[in-house]
Amino acid sequence: MGMDKYYAGLVEEYRKKTTISGRAFEKAKMFLAGGETRTVSYYPPYPLTIAGGKGCRVYDVDGNEYIDCVNNYTSLIHGHANEMITNAICDAAKKGTAIPAGIEEQVKLAELLCERIPSAERVRFCNSGTEATLFATRAAKVYTGKQGIMKILGGYHGTTDMMEYNVSPVMNYEEPEKMLIPKPDIAGVSERIADEIYVVPYNDLAAAEQVLKQHSREIAGMILEPFLGAGGVIPAKKEYLEGLRTLTEKYHVLLIFDEVQALRLSEGGAQKRYGVTPDISAFAKIIGGGLPVGAVGGKKEIMEVFDPTRKDHVTQSGTFNGNRATMAAGYAAMIQYNQAACDRLEKLSVQMQERIEAAFKKSGIDGCVTRAGSILNYHFLKECPEDYIAVTRGNQELAKVLHLELMKRGVFVAPRGMMALSTPMTESVIDEIGVAFADSLSEMSKAL
Ligand code: PLP
Repeated sequence: MGMDKYYAGLVEEYRKKTTISGRAFEKAKMFLAGGETRTVSYYPPYPLTIAGGKGCRVYDVDGNEYIDCVNNYTSLIHGHANEMITNAICDAAKKGTAIPAGIEEQVKLAELLCERIPSAERVRFCNSGTEATLFATRAAKVYTGKQGIMKILGGYHGTTDMMEYNVSPVMNYEEPEKMLIPKPDIAGVSERIADEIYVVPYNDLAAAEQVLKQHSREIAGMILEPFLGAGGVIPAKKEYLEGLRTLTEKYHVLLIFDEVQALRLSEGGAQKRYGVTPDISAFAKIIGGGLPVGAVGGKKEIMEVFDPTRKDHVTQSGTFNGNRATMAAGYAAMIQYNQAACDRLEKLSVQMQERIEAAFKKSGIDGCVTRAGSILNYHFLKECPEDYIAVTRGNQELAKVLHLELMKRGVFVAPRGMMALSTPMTESVIDEIGVAFADSLSEMSKAL
């Protein structure tokens, strides 16, 4: 059977299994543009409508159960409806959720983050990772008096104009250097700021040095993730991060870590695990306990640019910054995510990686799994990719098929192959996921 016919059969099965979700999506389209509010949530033929979740499982409106391997794109470290977090949110709601004044819950979470994260001498909260990277880069510009920002090809840091450059460019495998020319890859982003952006490939210290050498007088900061998250879960080489620390110091450019996903890597984030301390970091996702959140943290003297008593301070507005519900939920989440919990989750992730790799091998389909802590990404590639360009060479058609095969078997994964574990998962859950991969890939191999 051809792949197209096989995929069409899977779509048909999906529709039959999720008729109520299908109707819900038709209704949603009448009121929500495109039926959704997050581009990433959509996949063909339509996304599920989820009625609820508990622990590591979610339930759709048709009554189907799924193991949640997306965990709201890595943010739900404790899965769904964690008791301590739920209680914290309810208690906060009873006291009033938000107030433009000091609240103790905000200081409590700030203290925990400053204690754990090496670079965070001071933090400020906001409502998303997008805002966190915006404020981190803005602080770098004000602190250094420069305007330029250096970023990674395929590096995703949220949706502000500057960060939407060269995230998912049109591929040019023949002349890859052309993909480094700063260019917005989504409609509506200003093209006028292109000369303030410098793009370099991941894990390539020589390329970073070349740009720094030439443009350090214009560049305020270099922003990167300690592993490339949305760009395919590519771990950074230790020497790369260490080298960047040395180079940025040498060229008086601030090193900015986007730890929005990477904070999962240890109690003190990727920076603690790698032993590389950036000047500023952006946080979000797990520090909100499932509620919207962002934070920027860094050295005291840099973070002082936000001090409202300073004449030239960076205004940091946000009606819901540091609101009580998020702060309480975040604290409840982080206190449960200590190093022991982190280590346990990593052990499960290694098992999951091995199971998926074994399933690929047995099926005879070329595939590999990249992993950073408890976040994984499978790729239809023979060799594990080390940069974004290599990731895009993976077979996207097969990824689409595997996505629906897994959904059919009750495993909810991101269409791009990203998977994030949560602490309610156990070895037997990993076993269930492993079986689903083995069966899916075996089925696919018959159709190839
Ligand atoms: N930075 C990274 C590394 C991310 O993965 C994301 C979101 O996925 C963001 C920033 C943006 O965060 P948010 O979606 O909370 O705006």
